Amino acid sequence: MSLLELQSVTKTFTGNSLAVENVSLQVTQGELLALTGESGCGKTTLLRIIAGLEQPDGGSVYLDNQLVAGNGHFIHPQHRQVGLVFQDYALFPHMTVAKNIIFGLGSWSRTERHSRLMEMLKLVELKGFEDRYPHQLSGGQQQRVAIARALAPKPKLLLLDEPFSNLDTLLKDQVRREVSAILRLSGTTAILVTHDIQDAMSMADRIAILRNGRLLQVGVPNQLYDHPMDSYIASFFGKVNLIPVTSDGGRVNSEIGSLDLNEIGDKTGILCLRPQHITIVKDNESATLSEIIGVTYLGNCQQLELKTGGCQLWCIQPLNVKYSPGQEVNLRFDLGGAHVIWDQH
Ligand code: ATP
Repeated sequence: MSLLELQSVTKTFTGNSLAVENVSLQVTQGELLALTGESGCGKTTLLRIIAGLEQPDGGSVYLDNQLVAGNGHFIHPQHRQVGLVFQDYALFPHMTVAKNIIFGLGSWSRTERHSRLMEMLKLVELKGFEDRYPHQLSGGQQQRVAIARALAPKPKLLLLDEPFSNLDTLLKDQVRREVSAILRLSGTTAILVTHDIQDAMSMADRIAILRNGRLLQVGVPNQLYDHPMDSYIASFFGKVNLIPVTSDGGRVNSEIGSLDLNEIGDKTGILCLRPQHITIVKDNESATLSEIIGVTYLGNCQQLELKTGGCQLWCIQPLNVKYSPGQEVNLRFDLGGAHVIWDQH
């Protein structure tokens, strides 16, 4: 069942081109959807429209089968039962953890408030921290208080806007796991806005990619990674070799050779081959000769820049063999891991 439904949502700011254009999207109950795309693509605007902090110019927003924006209707944010977690956590600095968490429970009885506070402290594993002030907590702990405060009033939907961008790399990984666990344990339906594809890949059930205000593709992480609908999305998920290919009825030809891809019909397209799908092999049977033009040490592996025919390629190799620029190597392509985006005619 879909908890949130956007139908052709559009928003233009004065003096600006379309910030959000004709976006239709459904989020199911209990799902964690990541909304991602490069800076300025409209992520925050869409999140603010869902929260009721912006009004769309066109289209409709349904929350739990109720029209909350569109067709002349507009339900204000405080009546939508939507929780918000911001990038800077926005905790009240002069209030203790406990006061922060129960802030939105003004209409609840004292006993109910106390019991919900205990539930939330247990959920976010901050029992014993209730009398501390925000400045006495780590970044990750502050993040958990912000989530507890947003979840305390039992929102139908939780919106998280770049919640990890203030955390350093090591802490980020841990906080992602903690936040995922909290959302799963509490069965919360959530939308996570992030520009970091690693947040989206590691946490989301589905990822929605926006570009210039338009929704390009929505899918489960490995579906988008393995079968991107265009080369922009392929590149958004990290380094990829994009190799022009032509099919002439049976064989697929490219600058890296003739490829056994079993494609029928005359067409052109782009082969997406991830660096990990290129291997350097010793024997040269059915391998492709290539020259190394650059080597970058990445800590746990090395990235090679290669030249094959007129094509520049990237590949990832373990560190046990030393490679140098100018060296010739034989490549094997794992076409099982490749994906071709055929041109639409
Ligand atoms: P970022 O990742 O950098 O935060 P974003 O994907 O969240 O970007 P938005 O903040 O939604 O992007 O902005 C989308 C577009 O709308 C941008 O071109 C931005 O300049 C514009 N925009 C956003 N808010 C306003 C506003 N209040 N007034 C005018 N233009 C705005």
